[in-house]
Amino acid sequence: MSDSWKSFEQQICKDFGGKRRGADYGDKEGGKNDCIQTPGWSIEIKFLASPTWKVMLDNAKNAVDRKENKHEIGIGVVKKKGTPMSDALVIIPYNEFLEYFVHSKEKEAENCDISWNNTCMGTTKEECYACGLPACVNCTISIEWFHFGIQRVCKRCVSEHYGK
Ligand SMILES: [Zn+2]
Ligand SMILES: [Zn+2]
Repeated sequence: MSDSWKSFEQQICKDFGGKRRGADYGDKEGGKNDCIQTPGWSIEIKFLASPTWKVMLDNAKNAVDRKENKHEIGIGVVKKKGTPMSDALVIIPYNEFLEYFVHSKEKEAENCDISWNNTCMGTTKEECYACGLPACVNCTISIEWFHFGIQRVCKRCVSEHYGK
């Protein structure tokens, strides 16, 4: 793969099971993160001749600010042009790291509100792997994800995105 900004973005999004959002989606200016279909991750990518502290910091903070739901972990991925892929860095703001990797707290029960399902259990500690919203066992089905194995997805997401 060529050592370019675009191929680097493609590679990173693919490694996380998704794709580049790309300019063709027309929402770059709307402050969206760089990859789509990477559930659980908000990813901002930089490919630069000389990455500076400020650029790397802003990139990682943007990843946190641009989460599509509260269950995503914001990470910046930075590569210096002309260096191997193995030297690319994942940058996670300290508070983000603490919250997701150190203080992983017991999840409180939340409401499943997929009310059109009359077998809905109401409260749940489960969540949909696609949208991150609370969804009980009865309102989810298990789907095999490319990189993430078997995960629960809510029936709302299934009917919207998976045509089942
Ligand atoms: Zn439910
Ligand atoms: Zn869902």
